[in-house]
Order: sequence, then C-alpha cells, then structure tokens
Amino acid sequence: MRTLHWFRVDLRTHDNSGLYHAALAGGGKGGRGVVGLFVVTPGEWGEHDESPAKIELILRTLGVLKESLARLNIPLLVRTSADFRATPGVVAQVAREVGAEGVYANRQYEVNEVKRDEQVEVCLRAQGGRLHLYHDQAALEPGEVRTGDGGAYTVFTPFKKKWVSTVLERGGIGGPGAACGVTVWPVPGKQAPTGINSDDVPASVAGFVSGVDAGLWPAGEEYALGRLRGFLDQRVRGYKDDRNTPGVEGTSRLSPYLAIGALSARECLRLASQANGGSLDGGQAGCASWISEVLWREFYKHLLWAFPRLSRGRAFKPATERIVWSDNRAHLHAWQQGLTGFPIVDAGCRQLLKTGWMHNRLRMVTAMFLSKDLFIDWREGERHFMRHLVDGDLSQNNGGWQWAASTGTDAAPYFRIFNPALQSAKFDPDGSFIKEFVPELRGVPAEFIHEPQSAPMQVLAKLDYPAPIIDRAESKERVLAAFRGVGDISAG
Ligand SMILES: Cc1cc2nc3c(=O)[nH]c(=O)nc-3n(C[C@H](O)[C@H](O)[C@H](O)COP(=O)(O)OP(=O)(O)OC[C@H]3O[C@@H](n4cnc5c(N)ncnc54)[C@H](O)[C@@H]3O)c2cc1C
Repeated sequence: MRTLHWFRVDLRTHDNSGLYHAALAGGGKGGRGVVGLFVVTPGEWGEHDESPAKIELILRTLGVLKESLARLNIPLLVRTSADFRATPGVVAQVAREVGAEGVYANRQYEVNEVKRDEQVEVCLRAQGGRLHLYHDQAALEPGEVRTGDGGAYTVFTPFKKKWVSTVLERGGIGGPGAACGVTVWPVPGKQAPTGINSDDVPASVAGFVSGVDAGLWPAGEEYALGRLRGFLDQRVRGYKDDRNTPGVEGTSRLSPYLAIGALSARECLRLASQANGGSLDGGQAGCASWISEVLWREFYKHLLWAFPRLSRGRAFKPATERIVWSDNRAHLHAWQQGLTGFPIVDAGCRQLLKTGWMHNRLRMVTAMFLSKDLFIDWREGERHFMRHLVDGDLSQNNGGWQWAASTGTDAAPYFRIFNPALQSAKFDPDGSFIKEFVPELRGVPAEFIHEPQSAPMQVLAKLDYPAPIIDRAESKERVLAAFRGVGDISAG
C-alpha cells in the first residue's frame, strides 16, 4: 500500500499526527511508502487574505521540510491549484499518479476548508480511495472540551479549568511513545526509497511578495523547536513581568511557527509543563502565564469549530451586527499606515507593516483604537491584520478582534476603552519602542512622547508628525451610544 500525506497547516515531521499515521499505513511489509504533497493555492490565499510575509515563510519552510523528508526517503510533491474548487481534483490526480489509495491530512476547522475536504473525499471515493483526517491543530481536539450539558465553553477561565482537568485525567501530555492520552507523535522512521522524485519548491509566488526581512523569521521546524527550547530555558521565568512591554523581547515570538504548523501546540505545552515542574496550571508564575496564553490559542480554535459563523465574518454576539460603523476611509487609511497622531498606535501599526508581526499588547491597543475610537468595523481591521501578519490565523485573529471590539465572547466590556497615552506611558514609559518605529518622534523629550501635541510650541514647530485625527472624548460618546442603542448584547 502507498499513502499520500497532504501537508496543509502542519509543515513539520515532528509531532505530525497525520504524517505519522500515513507513514504507518504506507510502511510495514509490502508497504510502498508515503509520499508528501503540498498544494500551492494562490486563489485560496487571496480569498482568505493570507499575507505575503506568511506565504514567504511557508515557501521557505517547505524548502527545509523537503530536506528533512528526503532524509526519511519521503519525496515532496508541490502542485498548484487555482482555488478551493480546483483543489480536490488536483489532490485526486496526484493520488492516482503515485498510486496512493489513502490520502492523509490533518483536519482544518474553517468552513471553506471543511467543504473542500468533503469534496476531496468525494473525488477520492470515486477512484476507490479515501481521505483520512487526523486531529493536530490544538492539543485537545475542538469539541473534546465540553460543558456539563455538552455545549462549547464560551468563557476562557472555565474552558481552561476543564481543559487542564481533561488533560490530567488522561495522564498529562507525553513525549513520543508515552502512555498518555495526549501524546507527541514521533518523526516517522526512514522508509525504503519510493523511486519518486521531489518537486522544486517555488522561491516565490506572484502576488505574494512582501518587503519583510526574511532574516526576522528563520524557517523550519528545527529552528522553531530550538526557539521554543531557548525561550523555555532562558526567558519564560520572566514572561509574566515582561510580556506586556513591546520594547523588550519578553515573549516567545513563536506564533508564526504555530500558525503554519512548523511547531505543534502539543509540543509547546509538553515542554512548558516540563519546565514548570510538570504543572499546567500554577507552579512558576512565568511558565504558568505562558501556558495560559497557549491555552487562549486552544480556546479560540475550539470556538471557531463550535461556531462556524465566526468563519463567515459574523459577530459572536448577534446584536452587535446592528451597529452602524463609521465608513471614514481617511481614518482607516491613517490607522493602516500608522499616521493617526497617537504615537503608540502608530508604532504598533508600523511594526506590523515593517516586520509582519505586532506585539500582543499593541494588537489590543490598535484594535481597540480602530473599533472604538475610530468606530470602524472590526472586520476592516481583521482583514488588514491578516493581509500583513506573518502569523495570521483566522481563529486567533478573529478572536482577538472580536475581543477588542466587544462583539466577541469573553470580550472586553464595550465601555472599557484603552486610553492610548496611558497604555503607552505604562508599557513604553521612556518611549523607546515608539521611537524605533516612528522615527519622526525621535527628537521629542520623554515627557511628551506619549502625547506630542502637549509639547511646547518650539518642539511642535519642528515636528513632522500628524496631529491626532480624532477627539477621543467625542468618539467615546459615539461608541457608548451605539452599543447602548443595539440593546442587550449579552446573548451569544
Ligand atoms: C487583535 C488581535 C489579533 C490577533 N491576531 C492573531 C493572529 O492572527 N495569529 C496569532 O497567532 N495570534 C494572534 N493574536 C494573539 C497574540 O497577539 C499573538 O498570538 C501573540 O502576540 C504572538 O506572539 P508570541 O508568539 O510572542 O506570543 P507569546 O506571548 O510567547 O505566547 C505564546 C503563544 O500563545 C498564544 N497566544 C499568546 N497570546 C495570545 C492571545 N492573546 N490570544 C490567543 N493566543 C495567544 C500564541 O499562539 C503565542 O504564540 C491576536 C491578538 C489580537 C488582540
């Protein structure tokens, strides 16, 4: 038997459940081995606003993956499909070409991807084959963590409690081969040569070329695992104190690797709990806080699965669909380009454009500024983030945006609106982060850096930086009135 493993959001050999099972099925006596496949899908990427920075990281990662697979005698085929509709035919064609009955892949939970996989199954069955889907994107499969009455959790803290107790009941998260309910899958063993040659991985794909320095995001699972280990060895202990300060490297910056599956959440949680003396909840404050953030990722993955409307651009709280947002394109453009006249907002928005990544604190500040102060539909911000983030992930991005806009579950209350100057004074007190990304403000003394418009005339006269584009007191009245006007938003 020969199998085909279709890589999607799982660009690694380590702890890849679909690949592991494909190799198992294709190995053994009489087995003809497993062949890898990746489908380049510019139409799909465009429809989903995937960013050029992320696509470049995917292509570079595929190059590294091809080498790792070659060491296991697993060839990697790279084919192109125009869009979602064409992909099932391409996969079925490759399965025929290599003589594979079974196509293996890790499950995706977004609505279009689920539909596409149903079509793949139809095409494969028509030629006597099957699609085998495995769970891989989160440590516990979406749907496994349920409330007492069988529903999905919509509040993080009880979700986390149940998540931890479920994992502990199953014996924790174990390493390869451990007898635990949640296990990290080993790298498949080296197989006999298949006689099939790997394809070239394209260096770039038209329409997906970014200006982001590739050196910021080295590619490959070895790099990602090394970065995880280094973070857990050296920095996780200070995470609780440092995680909110954009000017220090206080967080792991592993999100791009999780987003494309060069690293698994299972492995992150396994190694973090090890670093935390075996605990997933409690223990050393930095470790516990980091584990909790990874569990926010799990929470949003579970929500996306439980509430398909989130994949369709709908608000979690239906009443908020009645809000009539501002369509001020000049404000949207100023926010996108980092030209609002609010230094911390502009620094965050420019960090995104320059590096493909934005610090979590600034994602919250900039998202709240767009949705509350500028009162622009959160979907505009969600789209802009996806188009630029190297770690863009629908479940996380949607969760973050709906949190900031108060349209989501367990979101910020609509009346609690971050004051950018206070956030800036608290988390970038000397303005060094602002000055790194907003060079026009480098000459501004620290006491005025958070609100340069309050500086004396002689400083202002030399400044080439926009005045604030809105009056926050007025905009606050507008947003409060709008939320009150749509009635009870508590229902989900
Ligand atoms: C408006 C908005 C949009 C966002 N969009 C995305 C996105 O598209 N992709 C994405 O991966 N994350 C997104 N996040 C969550 C978070 O900002 C990033 O995961 C985090 O900044 C990544 O940096 P890190 O890897 O250094 O995180 P660390 O602080 O080292 O945390 C480790 C991991 O935990 C998870 N995590 C951390 N913070 C959060 C959080 N607030 N919510 C959910 N998971 C979290 C991530 O997987 C992260 O890699 C968004 C947050 C907001 C507020």
